[in-house]
Amino acid sequence: MEISLKNQVAIVTGASSGIGAGVAKSLASSGATVVVNYSSDKSLDKANSILKEITDAGGNGIVYLCDVSQENQVISMFQDVVSQLGTVDILVNNAGIQKDAKFTEMTLDQWNAVIGINLTGQFLCAREAIKEFLRRGIDTKRSVACGKIIHISSVHEIIPWAGHANYASSKGAIKMMMQTLAQEYGADKIRVNSICPGAIQTPINTNAWNTPEALNDLLTLIPYNRIGQPQDIGNLAVFLASDMSDYITGASIFVDGGMTTFESFSTGG
Ligand code: NAD
Repeated sequence: MEISLKNQVAIVTGASSGIGAGVAKSLASSGATVVVNYSSDKSLDKANSILKEITDAGGNGIVYLCDVSQENQVISMFQDVVSQLGTVDILVNNAGIQKDAKFTEMTLDQWNAVIGINLTGQFLCAREAIKEFLRRGIDTKRSVACGKIIHISSVHEIIPWAGHANYASSKGAIKMMMQTLAQEYGADKIRVNSICPGAIQTPINTNAWNTPEALNDLLTLIPYNRIGQPQDIGNLAVFLASDMSDYITGASIFVDGGMTTFESFSTGG
C-alpha cells in the first residue's frame, strides 16, 4: 500500500525535535511539502538539520519560527505559508511541554505555560488551519477532504497522572476540542483526529529511558515491551493525513504498545 501526499502542504508544529521531527520526515517522505515549525532561535539549527534530512531524502519543506502560544505569530505563520506555498492541507498540532509539580506546589506560571502551549497553541493553529481550508475549498487533485488536522494528544487524555495535573488537563481538553471540531466541520469535509502516544523516546521524557533502571520501570507499563519511536507516530500521521483514512474523523487513536490496557492488571490485578 503506497500512500501519496503529493501536492499537499503540511505544517508540523514543534518539529525541530522528537515526535514532531519524526512526523515531519514521514509526511515529507510521502510527498508532502512540510513546514518544520520551531519555537525559538535556540532551535533553529535543529530545525535546519531536520529540513536537511528531508531534502537529502528527496523531500521538500521550509523551516518557520513561531511560538504557537502567541496569537499574532500563529496568524503570521499561516499567512506566510499560504503566500509562500499556496495553501495548507494538513496541520499536525504537535508542540507540547511539561512543567511537572505536585499539585499543591504547582505555580500559576507552570499551569499557564503548559495550557498556553499544549492547549491554546493547538486551538490557535487549528482555527487558522480551518479558516484556510474553508477559503480554499476541496481540490480533488490534492485530497478528497477539504483539510486534515491531527492533534498530538497523549495516553494522558484518559490516564490521570499525579504530579502532572497541568499536562493531563491539557490533553484531556484536546480530546474534547478535537471531537467538537470534527462534529462542527464534518459537513465541510474537514477531518480532525488525535494520535495519543504512549511512551515515545524523545527529549520530553529523557528521565524515563536514559538509565537501564528507568527503562525497565517504564517497560512494566508497556505490554509490547519496547519504548516507542517517533516513526511509530509518523506512520499513523501519514495514514491519517491521507485519503486512505477518509472515513476516520473524531477519533483518538492510541499508539502506545498497549499501555492503555493497564498492564498492572495482567496478573489478575
Ligand atoms: P519534544 O520536547 O522533543 O518536542 C516538543 C517540541 O515542541 C519541541 O520541538 C519544542 O521546541 C516544541 N515547542 C515547545 N514550545 C513550543 C512553542 N511555544 N511553539 C512551538 N513549538 C514549541 O517532545 P515530544 O515527545 O516530541 O513531544 C511532542 C508532543 O508529543 C507533545 O505534545 C507531547 O505532549 C506529546 N507526547 C509525547 C509523548 C512521549 O512519550 N514522548 C507521549 C505522549 C504525548
